[in-house]
Amino acid sequence: MKKPYVQLVDICKSFGAVKANIDVNLDVNPGEILALLGENGSGKSTLVNMLSGIYAPDAGSIYIDGQKKVFTSPQDAIANNIGMVHQHFKLIPVMSALENIALGEKSGFLLNKKRIEKKVFELEEKYSLNVDLNKKIYELSVGEKQTVEILKVLYRGANVMILDEPTAVLTPQEIEKLFVIMRNMKEAGCAIIIITHKLNEVMEISDRVTVLRKGKSIGTVETKKTNIYELTEMMVGESVELEIKREKPSTTSQPMLKIRHLTKKDEHDVKILNDISFDLYGGEILGVAGIAGSGQKELCETIAGLTKIDSGSILFLDEEITGLSPRAIIKKGISMSFIPEDRLGMGLVAGMNIIDNVLLKTYRETEGAFVDRNYGKKKAEEIIKKYDISTPSVNHIVKKLSGGNIQKVLLGREIEMKPRLLITAYPVRGLDIGASYAIYDMLNEQKAHGVAVLFIGEDLDVLRELCDRLIIMHSGRIVEIVDPIVTSKEEIGLLMLGADS
Ligand code: ADP
Ligand code: MG
Repeated sequence: MKKPYVQLVDICKSFGAVKANIDVNLDVNPGEILALLGENGSGKSTLVNMLSGIYAPDAGSIYIDGQKKVFTSPQDAIANNIGMVHQHFKLIPVMSALENIALGEKSGFLLNKKRIEKKVFELEEKYSLNVDLNKKIYELSVGEKQTVEILKVLYRGANVMILDEPTAVLTPQEIEKLFVIMRNMKEAGCAIIIITHKLNEVMEISDRVTVLRKGKSIGTVETKKTNIYELTEMMVGESVELEIKREKPSTTSQPMLKIRHLTKKDEHDVKILNDISFDLYGGEILGVAGIAGSGQKELCETIAGLTKIDSGSILFLDEEITGLSPRAIIKKGISMSFIPEDRLGMGLVAGMNIIDNVLLKTYRETEGAFVDRNYGKKKAEEIIKKYDISTPSVNHIVKKLSGGNIQKVLLGREIEMKPRLLITAYPVRGLDIGASYAIYDMLNEQKAHGVAVLFIGEDLDVLRELCDRLIIMHSGRIVEIVDPIVTSKEEIGLLMLGADS
């Protein structure tokens, strides 16, 4: 058998006390797509960052085409024809796509524009990529930006392509396009490493899968000889029930929440919420899908009273709540566990322990003006037990918990408040599969208790399985409200792009 083109051997990397990679092994051949699978924090980005010269390993070796290499900078990796498309794009917004692609070209851009353009056209042709090269980066959609990143790497002549969670930001249609491009690169003999935590993508696109768990490479398997159950087990170390149980909704006859003609403009007078109207019933999970920035965040924030609207109304049990303070809204039984980009930004105070975080919300339940710490301790212990939170103690500082446990503290505290309406946005972002399913179960239980649940999500498979109805947003508008049982992922994807059916 021929030697693998890229070989990482016993790679170790620590950041202070955090062992991000422990004796990790990985190899990839030309004309092969290797999926690097692992939960959040398992060390995937760290590993590929060493292959692309961003970090130097503490120990271990990198071989390219059989030769041992030491990369001291990204330029070293580029010189060895290794290219990486990062999780967060590294493009210059005010420059055109073409200028970004040719960045780093030594000779003058203007003098060579024709030649550069010709080369990029040829690449576009060869790999079926397509983007308007004269547009500025800020004018491009997320999918187009990613295409520019890929072109940039190909332009430099990469024959090893690393893609770090490339699908996280794409619609189903864009993902299919990306997969076509990847298959073309594979045909052309590229060695490709794709990082993802989505199992269906691994099954669809990869030839082999290397699984990382807690910084260690657990094993490598051939995709056609494995299945999502085996991969999950490798990822989390135990088998996990991979089904969301959708109970029939038993909705109230009257809507719990009525949203009417909600409109909100941003500082540039652009409507970030544009005439939003819908009803939410008790006993149902109403999902919200949309590409990032379609107004989901603003919708949550306006219902929760965190931000003002320009026009429209919000009725909770037929009572106008528009313009009330968040505290007044919470008092009515509306609970919000909205996870912004950073989980600790809202709802939990990072530097406080679990008891204090619980008290933050629940002390109003207890009698008298004193904050009853015994009550807080009891409640925190209940939550820890009920939601299976692993923490050394109730006195543990919240920010030192893992993402999944932080999320369970937040959601557990909200649910203990016995809300009638629960708004939750991206509650499983960054959580492992086991913790994610625990959260889905928590939401289903709330639904069974007659709570009205508004669920803003990003994984279309999950949205379709969990939700009873699904609102699809685009550019601040509701494009359509669909029945997820009879609407395909592709149809939902098209609607997310703004196509009215
Ligand atoms: P993944 O890409 O699989 O989600 P990462 O490689 O980003 O995982 O992270 C692995 C671990 O290393 C995590 O615990 C993360 O917090 C830590 N880590 C990653 N980069 C750094 C850094 N620059 N400084 C400190 N810790 C880091
Ligand atoms: Mg990562």
